[in-house]
Amino acid sequence: MKDSAHKFCSSKKIDSALEVLKRSHFRSKFKLTDRDRKYITEKGMEKIREHAFDFINLRIAQQFPKNDGKQTPMKGHPVFTAQHATATCCRGCLQKWHKIQKGRALSDNEVGFVVNMIMGWIEKQTGGGENELIKQQ
Ligand SMILES: [Zn+2]
Repeated sequence: MKDSAHKFCSSKKIDSALEVLKRSHFRSKFKLTDRDRKYITEKGMEKIREHAFDFINLRIAQQFPKNDGKQTPMKGHPVFTAQHATATCCRGCLQKWHKIQKGRALSDNEVGFVVNMIMGWIEKQTGGGENELIKQQ
């Protein structure tokens, strides 16, 4: 079930969304720290993807998320950083950047899209999806 996001979004759509975000000075300032990278290596990409699903479902996907606009810490987990970098940190940013309307729950499709964008950004930060991070258990 956790992998179902793959079905929903072509990587082309993710790539073009990430490309647009690169034009934002604010968004492109976000980078993974050494600590984040170490954490990703230790946990493996699949675990990080699970965390991304959990964070999005707990903090973003509801019709009216708690503390919307302030629910995503600026650092402390690679997924948090990725959320700011990809404008998936709150419903305001999702609406502004990704045309996902506020005031309703996210669909499974949209959760999948958001998670894929986060993971796409993390993969680019860690040197593409083909490295040892992926192959790890
Ligand atoms: Zn935001």
